Amino acid sequence: MKQNKSSSTFINYWSQYAKRCITGPISLLKGLSVTLGYFFNPKSVVTEQYPENKKTLKMHDRYRGRLELIEDKEGENLCTACKLCEKACPNASINILTTKNIAGKMVLGRYLYHLASCTQCALCVEACPFGAIQMNPEFEFSHQNKDVFEMVLNQKEGRF
Ligand code: SF4
Ligand code: SF4
Repeated sequence: MKQNKSSSTFINYWSQYAKRCITGPISLLKGLSVTLGYFFNPKSVVTEQYPENKKTLKMHDRYRGRLELIEDKEGENLCTACKLCEKACPNASINILTTKNIAGKMVLGRYLYHLASCTQCALCVEACPFGAIQMNPEFEFSHQNKDVFEMVLNQKEGRF
């Protein structure tokens, strides 16, 4: 009885060994076929060669970089300073400072955006009833000076 058991263990071991001897090279050949496929058809390689391709690199459509104001054809931003985006932001990454124009109407003074605390959730974009903001495709945000993450989004219009 004891001899029967040891002989079945022996057979089991060698059958497993034989199986691995066959499946091992097959799996190796499968891997090599992928490598050779890319070697002979380099255009099918999906790995991005960053930073060499920095100038041509296009982010995916749904990628969320940082917040920016949308401008109309005249270069004026669409923001009415209603502050709904500021209220929608869960971590106070937006501060809208208002001012009055010559006609006494409340307008946007400064659109302050704190990129360092922004989580790119885009709740502000969804909350804006005027379609005045969007997440742009920028992706290089590392910097040694944290002050650069404090942004005035409407700065270039000179309303500050
Ligand atoms: S993307 Fe989210 S975290 Fe960033 S400013 Fe908008 S609401 Fe705030
Ligand atoms: S960006 Fe939109 S939601 Fe925010 S203050 Fe301007 S108009 Fe209002």
